[in-house]
Amino acid sequence: MKPGKIICIGWNYRSHLSETDAVLPDEPVVFLKPSSCLIGNNGSIIATDVGAIHHEIELALIFGKDCKNSTEEDALSYVSHAAVFNDITAREIQNKARSAGNPWCIAKGMDTFGPMSDPVSIDSVKDVHDLDLELSVNGIVKQKGNTSMMIFSIGKLIAYVSKFMTIEKGDIMATGTPEGVGPLVKGDTVVAKIPGVGELRNRVI
Ligand code: MG
Repeated sequence: MKPGKIICIGWNYRSHLSETDAVLPDEPVVFLKPSSCLIGNNGSIIATDVGAIHHEIELALIFGKDCKNSTEEDALSYVSHAAVFNDITAREIQNKARSAGNPWCIAKGMDTFGPMSDPVSIDSVKDVHDLDLELSVNGIVKQKGNTSMMIFSIGKLIAYVSKFMTIEKGDIMATGTPEGVGPLVKGDTVVAKIPGVGELRNRVI
């Protein structure tokens, strides 16, 4: 099923703040990617004439039922699956938008900018707040982190977002990326892994 929306969280790991000149948010930073950007494992990331594109490994959660006004405590009961997500970003376009105070939809929402692994049942994931994340480009590790290092817990994120918008069945939430984001160029193979959740391999063409 195609999700209605992909809810993304910006700057949810302290280590990613400094490398993008961002300050510690006092509330989650929320933006959307369109479902038209989704591709699967082994799909190709296509970026032509958009300047530098960056990888961002993230834990994705898929919702099994509509969620509105959830509490932090019951937030996870709305989640049916987890997956590995790569929040591909046209960084130069995003930075230009940021510095002008404009939205960055285009920078995040281009076709193929939402690679996601095959979802696994959330019941098979032992602890969503203790998952290792590792991303490599052409076999060289670029990003490493653990979901225990999130600034806002998953419960907080879901409660916060669902206060303002209904998270619908099938929607995806990408929960932010740790440090080490960096460029991808044509010919690169990017592999994002979250042991216990999945592996996502994509080539840039
Ligand atoms: Mg991101």
